[in-house]
Amino acid sequence: MERVVLAVDLGGTNIRVAAIDEHGMIKKRVQRQTLAHEGETSVLRSLISSIEEVYQAFPEKQIKGVGAGIAGAIDIRKGIITQSPNLVEFDGYPLRDKLQASFLKHLPIMIDNDAAVAAMGEKWKGAGAGVNDLICLTLGTGIGGGIIIHGKLIHGADGMAGEVGHITVDPRGPQCNCGNRGCLEALASATAIRREAIEALSEHPESELHKRCRHDPETITAEMVYQSAKAGDQVARNIFQDMGRYLGIGIASLINILNPEMVVLGGGVSKSWDMFFSFTKQEVQKRALKIPTARVKIVPAVCGDDAGLLGAAYLVFHSNKCTE
Ligand SMILES: [Zn+2]
Repeated sequence: MERVVLAVDLGGTNIRVAAIDEHGMIKKRVQRQTLAHEGETSVLRSLISSIEEVYQAFPEKQIKGVGAGIAGAIDIRKGIITQSPNLVEFDGYPLRDKLQASFLKHLPIMIDNDAAVAAMGEKWKGAGAGVNDLICLTLGTGIGGGIIIHGKLIHGADGMAGEVGHITVDPRGPQCNCGNRGCLEALASATAIRREAIEALSEHPESELHKRCRHDPETITAEMVYQSAKAGDQVARNIFQDMGRYLGIGIASLINILNPEMVVLGGGVSKSWDMFFSFTKQEVQKRALKIPTARVKIVPAVCGDDAGLLGAAYLVFHSNKCTE
């Protein structure tokens, strides 16, 4: 009988659950809104009922375990959400124990950071197939990361390794959510693109971007900045140029430290590839050492929103604790 893992992606916006087999085929999926503002009890109830809906579609014996990628810093050994900017009430929350106390008692459960499991998903079924040393950056509202060395995710002493979004790329730069200044996340995420656009508009009322947001900068999204850049708007193009450069500065450091075979860029902002990547590449070539730069391939992610689900499933299939 072919086993499946119940893979979970718990983000600030959506709860997604899928049953995934050993070949990475998604057999069933369920999606609900997280509704984080309704509080932890309500989110947990919704999470458990989403898992149950997928669980019930399979005979009990077929289910190998539960793997979850969570938006936040995770203590993988204790199964605790240490800190999460998108699930604020969940700081210090013992999610694994809470799930284990539900109908899932008899199943092994593992939880990990969402960007880390997404890196594993890209390695298993995506851009990084067959690659053993790779770094995956998820460029979204924030910037997450996963580092895979010799085929294994690096977790560090506190389970917090791979927080690439908080590499300092400009010591005098804007404030980041972590309290520091000039982190990569504060300069190359969707949030950063939006902030830069709002600032730039006050000086450029004539720009295409100004028209697209109907002269109301508060309505601007990173996607809107991208569409304006594509339409030739110089203000929007400059924003992507800066964003691409900062990204390149961050990636150059990662290449120098880790000498990866591949750097995979995923998340919503990576879809603006044609507007930022040439600047990223220029900075990498300027700053990273010659030999690792000649080797590394920097490529877009291919698994999209499923990367995290696939990676969470892979980790359960390949965890020693979960073997029977
Ligand atoms: Zn930071």
